[in-house]
Amino acid sequence: MAEERMLKFVTVSRDMPEKRPPRLRTDDFGEIYGEFVRDKAEEQAGRCSQCGVPYCQSHCPLHNNIPDWLMLTAEGRLREAYELSQATNTFPEICGRICPQDRLCEGNCVIEQAGHGTVTIGAVEKYITDTAWEQGWVQPIRPAAERDESVGIVGAGPGGLAAADLLRRAGVQVTVYDRHDRAGGLMTYGIPGFKLEKDVVMQRVAQLEDGGVTFRLNCEVGTDISWDDLRGVHDAVLIATGVYRSRELEAPGSEAQGIVRAIDYLTASNRKSFGDDVPEFDDGTLNAEGKRVVVIGGGDTAMDCVRTAVRQGATSVKCLYRRDRANMPGSQREVANAEEEGVEFVWLSAPAGFTAGGRQKGAVAGVAVEGTDEGRVAGVTVQKMRLGAPDATGRQVPQLIEGSDYTEDAELVIKALGFEPEELVRLWGVEGLEVTRWGTVKADFRTHETSLPGVYACGDIQRGASLVVWAIRDGREAAEAMLARFAGRGAIAAE
Ligand SMILES: Cc1cc2nc3c(=O)[nH]c(=O)nc-3n(C[C@H](O)[C@H](O)[C@H](O)COP(=O)(O)OP(=O)(O)OC[C@H]3O[C@@H](n4cnc5c(N)ncnc54)[C@H](O)[C@@H]3O)c2cc1C
Ligand code: SF4
Repeated sequence: MAEERMLKFVTVSRDMPEKRPPRLRTDDFGEIYGEFVRDKAEEQAGRCSQCGVPYCQSHCPLHNNIPDWLMLTAEGRLREAYELSQATNTFPEICGRICPQDRLCEGNCVIEQAGHGTVTIGAVEKYITDTAWEQGWVQPIRPAAERDESVGIVGAGPGGLAAADLLRRAGVQVTVYDRHDRAGGLMTYGIPGFKLEKDVVMQRVAQLEDGGVTFRLNCEVGTDISWDDLRGVHDAVLIATGVYRSRELEAPGSEAQGIVRAIDYLTASNRKSFGDDVPEFDDGTLNAEGKRVVVIGGGDTAMDCVRTAVRQGATSVKCLYRRDRANMPGSQREVANAEEEGVEFVWLSAPAGFTAGGRQKGAVAGVAVEGTDEGRVAGVTVQKMRLGAPDATGRQVPQLIEGSDYTEDAELVIKALGFEPEELVRLWGVEGLEVTRWGTVKADFRTHETSLPGVYACGDIQRGASLVVWAIRDGREAAEAMLARFAGRGAIAAE
């Protein structure tokens, strides 16, 4: 019976849910992919070859039991598929939407390697959990018994929320602190709605609140509450603060107005999507409307900036990256989406400086403005590069081509060069918390215990800028380690 439903990869070709045409999808911030209809999800799940050694599972950071939930979906047993899928993943509908599947589960699908096109694992995972929400199968968190232990979690991103979920299910008293006014971390204020609509995140936050997790928002640890006070009121603390220090660009003219940081730009755009008042958007500072936009960088953040600029009504959007397409860190799927939406990639190009005296061109609160301003950016001086010999990491090093400079005109330049950790030890005045030479918090990679007794770390602040799925895994592992400790099954190394 199962065999009839599965192994259809030879006769059924790979299909994704319908993608909205670029012309229509760039008019709004809604997600670009639709949902499978039931028959299609069952058919696509049935393409799985049910291999003995599922490489998709071993390359999923959560080791999701992918072959089994694909088989259950193909057999129409969706509720069981959901139960299995949520057993290993706190937010399957979010991972199904935004994991770079081409580098994780789907990139290691055996039938892809045999030339048949990968099983659309992410889209099926999303379908299963979206259906579970619609059908009311997603159960509220109701612990069997309350426990006395209390955990303080600093940071309401995917790492902190995944830990909160597991701890609360076990009856632990959980308080999540975040300096933002909404929970979700980069899922709320970094990643744009066209990849992850905000109500998908907010529905999970509401589920946690309803299950008894206390959120203290607009509360910055180190400012609104001291580290010592926080440590004093909880039996254990999880540091899940992410990485937010933007890498800067040291180049002549980089102080000009109109050169902005990606995180500020994306946060403003996401806040507008929530309907918030955002003065820096309304006065044109963080709004691409009517401007020629240059984004510098080749990672996921750069991809999100270029596509946001298109939706805001930029007159042109170019992305400068110092390596080539094959060597960029961003997902190839996102590059293809950006190209479809009209973004031009200028490969093997690096900024040497910025010219000023730009036009104040664009719209301020919907009113067109134009004029010159010596303090404003007018363009980017671009240096062309070639790829030289590989370095110690095996990546080819970009080398300058002398005399190849030219200027790209721009009224808005967005720097998307990556993020580094903030200096928590100094900012919070934490004695004894060890950090790595990159500034990330040093913690055991299995238990997530830090050098301080009862203090754990997870997600980007432990591993450096990474992915939502890794933060979820870390948060779950940290919660399990805390529960083991509360049960007297595991003492932390420092004790
Ligand atoms: C633009 C962008 C796009 C991305 N796209 C993807 C993608 O498509 N797929 C993917 O898998 N990953 C993506 N990522 C990466 C992913 O978002 C992160 O790896 C993930 O969110 C890290 O989770 P986290 O819980 O460690 O931290 P975060 O999500 O960064 O959350 C940390 C939280 O801690 C809070 N905080 C920090 N300091 C304090 C303090 N002192 N007091 C109180 N609160 C504090 C912050 O306000 C924040 O809410 C993207 C990242 C960016 C920037
Ligand atoms: S969590 Fe991410 S890597 Fe794992 S199966 Fe889902 S989409 Fe693939």
